[in-house]
Amino acid sequence: MASCGPDPISRNACPACGSSEIIEIPSGDVLPAILFPVESARAADVPARAIRAAACSECQHVFLTQIDPDFSARLYADYYNLYPFRTLETLNVFYREPFDEVLRVFCQPGSHSLLEIGCDDVQQMRYFLDQGYRCTAINPGAEDCGDVHFIDGYYGLTVVEGDFDRIISRFNLEHIVDIDAFFEQLQHNLKGNGIAIVQVPNAQHFLHLGVLNMFAHEHPHYFCRRSLAAMISSRGFEIRFLNGAGEPSLICAFAHGTDNTYDPLARIGNLRRVISQVCAFIADRSDRVVLYGAGLSATALLYWSEFRAEWYDRLSIVDDNVVIQGRLMPNTPLAIGRPDDKVLQGASSIILTLSQQYHPTVIGRLRARGVAADIYAISDNGFKAVSRDD
Ligand SMILES: [Zn+2]
Repeated sequence: MASCGPDPISRNACPACGSSEIIEIPSGDVLPAILFPVESARAADVPARAIRAAACSECQHVFLTQIDPDFSARLYADYYNLYPFRTLETLNVFYREPFDEVLRVFCQPGSHSLLEIGCDDVQQMRYFLDQGYRCTAINPGAEDCGDVHFIDGYYGLTVVEGDFDRIISRFNLEHIVDIDAFFEQLQHNLKGNGIAIVQVPNAQHFLHLGVLNMFAHEHPHYFCRRSLAAMISSRGFEIRFLNGAGEPSLICAFAHGTDNTYDPLARIGNLRRVISQVCAFIADRSDRVVLYGAGLSATALLYWSEFRAEWYDRLSIVDDNVVIQGRLMPNTPLAIGRPDDKVLQGASSIILTLSQQYHPTVIGRLRARGVAADIYAISDNGFKAVSRDD
């Protein structure tokens, strides 16, 4: 039989991770718009289309590659309301219990605002209402009711105003065709310190169970643990929790991404300049300098290449921790002293080498004792003199 060549792929990159390394899944099965039993009057002439799907070589996401918007619209408008197990997914104990465990961690009682995507049922939101949450939910056809502010619409297409402490999406993301619009809206709606939680069926689990068909026109996405993580992190979010690859459903809690400007090499380079600056400061003094705090910042000075052994004679090191008082810094003649008047009053400069969080207390104590020395601090600000007013 002559080959007709590969079918055109309208989705030519992975919607989860963006990779173009995708492999078409041999199929071509023509499936009806819905795959659940319907009443006899509706069972004939259900529109049908071939399923075209691909798998991503990078993240193992499986997804439909050809989606006809008209066909999808008809599916939801004419047939999806015939779905006989409307709340099955959220009531099924294998799905519900692991989700409730995540809620116990991330959705504790409080006066929080919450948005649930793909929900039009007050009962489904009872948990949040009982926790004292102010609840909003969006789903096509949703009708407003007293306890929950329902919005009739499609998340990502219908604008949702405001921002929320928690955003929940249960068995909804696998239905979403325009993933970019969905996550862009989520970026707007999730508060700076908010948490979103999504739950989707785990395709890997289905395939392992030996279920012969997992495809359906209403599901453009078939997630595995890796592809769900890829989809969420590639949209700029940071994953806080993701359950195991073998679970029936995948549950992921995530937040806005933290700042990506962390550059350890540049930061260490800056800190080395500070060490050099402090050593030059000590070199310039002819009188006594006290290092206050026998911690890591002190070690940076004592073992720095520019540190001179002749400085030991006019250097003292003190610490408030009695456990280390009287001990010596390794390979030096410097014993850790008590920060008493004898040491402090004999110095012209005191350098705070203890953790920054203790600086205000120590400065207050030194001032209260009438210590005359100039005080300098090593902190996230570098090496700075402490003002007399501090
Ligand atoms: Zn991928």
